Amino acid sequence: MYQDFKNHLEEELSNIVSAGLYKNERVIVSPQGAKIRVADGKEVLNFCSNNYLGLSNHPALKKAAADALETRGYGVSSVRFICGTQDLHKQLEASIARFFGTEDTILYAACFDANGGVFEPLLSEEDAVISDALNHASIIDGVRLCKAQRYRYANADMDDLENQLKTSQAQRFRLIVTDGVFSMDGNVTPLDKIYELAKKYNAMVMVDESHSAGVVGETGRGVTERFNLRGQIEIITGTLGKAFGGAIGGFTTGKKEIIELLRQRSRPYLFSNSIPPMVAAAGIRVFKMLDETNKLQDKLHENTLYFVDSMKAAGFDIKPTESAICAVMLYDAKLSQDMANRLLEEGIYVTGFYYPVVPKGQARIRVQISAAHERAHLDKCIAAFTKVGKEFGVIH
Ligand SMILES: *Cc1c(COP(=O)(O)O)cnc(C)c1O
Repeated sequence: MYQDFKNHLEEELSNIVSAGLYKNERVIVSPQGAKIRVADGKEVLNFCSNNYLGLSNHPALKKAAADALETRGYGVSSVRFICGTQDLHKQLEASIARFFGTEDTILYAACFDANGGVFEPLLSEEDAVISDALNHASIIDGVRLCKAQRYRYANADMDDLENQLKTSQAQRFRLIVTDGVFSMDGNVTPLDKIYELAKKYNAMVMVDESHSAGVVGETGRGVTERFNLRGQIEIITGTLGKAFGGAIGGFTTGKKEIIELLRQRSRPYLFSNSIPPMVAAAGIRVFKMLDETNKLQDKLHENTLYFVDSMKAAGFDIKPTESAICAVMLYDAKLSQDMANRLLEEGIYVTGFYYPVVPKGQARIRVQISAAHERAHLDKCIAAFTKVGKEFGVIH
C-alpha cells in the first residue's frame, strides 16, 4: 500500500514545487527580535515577525517564566478540568478579561483551538454564522465544525454584510465573525459599522483580535478600543503568540455565560492539555506591564507611522493600514520574490506574498513593524527598500 501512497505524495509535493508554492523554512539561531541571526551566521534586521511589542525576548517575561518554572514546574500533564488548573491559569484568565474589558476568559493551547472550539458548542443548525471572506483559516475551520447555516460577505463590505443579515433573518441566532486586522493588507475591520448592523438585524458579534490586540487602539486594547466598543462585543478571540510575548496560547474572552458553556463543551479545551505554568506566568506579566505603561504601544505606533510615511515619500505604493502591517504593493508575483531575496542580501528580512495567499495580480511584500525596532533599524530598512526598489524600477 505505502508504495502507491508514497508515489501519490511525491506527485503532490512536486506539484507544490512547480506551482512555486513550496515553503522552505529559514533557520534562525538567535532569540526573536529586531535583529536575528540566521543559520549561515548572517545577522539581518527582521521585519516579518508578529513580535509587535518586542516582548518575545523581554527580560521581565523571561524572569516570570523562570520563576514559574521553579515554583510550579515544567508542565501540568492534564487538561484543565481534571488536574490541570493552577492559580496561574486563573490569574491569566482574569488578566485577559481586564485587558479587554470583558466578563470572563477561557484559555486554549492556541488561538487556532479557540476558534476551532467556539462555534460548535454555541450554535446549531437553526442558527447562522456570517463570516468575512478574508477571515483566518482557524475561523473557517471552526465554522466547518458547527452545524449552523453559513453566510459569507466580501472583505469588510458592509453592503454585502447587510444583505447576508437580511437573508439570515429566518435563523434563530446570528453571529457575525471577523478578524480585527486582516493580515495581508493590515486593514482594520469596520467594527463600528458591523456593530450597528448587528443591532439593526439582531445579531451578535465575534472578533478575532490576534493581529490587533496590543497594536490597535491608543492603548493597544484592540479594535474594540479603536471603536469605543469595549465590553459591547459578545466574543473576542486572540493569541498569546503574537504581540503578547509570542510563545504559545490562545483565548476566548467575552460574555460570562458564553465562557461558562465553552468550559463545559468546547472540545479543544476539554480534550487538550493546559498551557505550561511558565507561559501562564509570563502572560500575567505581559498584561501587568501593559497596565502599568503605554510605552511599547506608543513606540509601535510611532514606528509604524514613521515607516509608512517614509515609504510613501520614497514613492512606494502602500495599502491603507491602521495596524503594524505595511503591505508594499508590487502586483507581480516574481517581482515580489526577487525583491524580497534582494532585500535579504541587503540585510532586511521580509516576505513576499502572491497568489493564492493574496488575490491574483496583488503580489506584495509585507513588512511588519515592531516596538523592538529602533529608528536606525527603520532607516536602514527604508534605505534598502529605496535602493532595491530603484534597481527593479519600482520607484524612480
Ligand atoms: C495567528 C492567528 C491565529 C492563530 O493563532 P495561534 O495562537 O498561533 O494558533 C488565529 N487567528 C488569527 C486572525 C491569527 O492572525
